[in-house]
Amino acid sequence: MSEPSIFTRILEGEVPSEIIAETENAFAIRDIAPQAPVHLLVIPKSAEYRNVVELAAGDPALLAEMIGLANSLASEHAGGDFRLIFNTGPAAGQTVFHVHAHVLAGDLDEGSLGG
Ligand code: 5GP
Repeated sequence: MSEPSIFTRILEGEVPSEIIAETENAFAIRDIAPQAPVHLLVIPKSAEYRNVVELAAGDPALLAEMIGLANSLASEHAGGDFRLIFNTGPAAGQTVFHVHAHVLAGDLDEGSLGG
């Protein structure tokens, strides 16, 4: 068995990080190294899927649940608009292979791809 991901360890309370919201199958935390005024992570409770491509193929309803949670968080923590990023693969900057969405909001540069 592989080691639990950092996000599983946070969910299980082994690594401190406030869980700021949750749904039945997903939860949200603040990114430890924010790249925008609001930078949250929306994460499935299960580490079954490594990236968004696997998630979309295996459980599209869970992907939709994550997007719904991202939308609620952007309303609560910013003006409602948000950028959703799924880094997919190491060359794209993915460092944690437990699928997660970056929710960026608040005063983002127009025209930039962010990150
Ligand atoms: P990735 O690079 O895989 O797309 O995103 C992983 C994200 O997880 C990074 O933005 C990183 O800052 C964040 N992260 C890594 N370790 C921790 C941690 O222990 N706590 C929190 N809150 N975020 C973390």
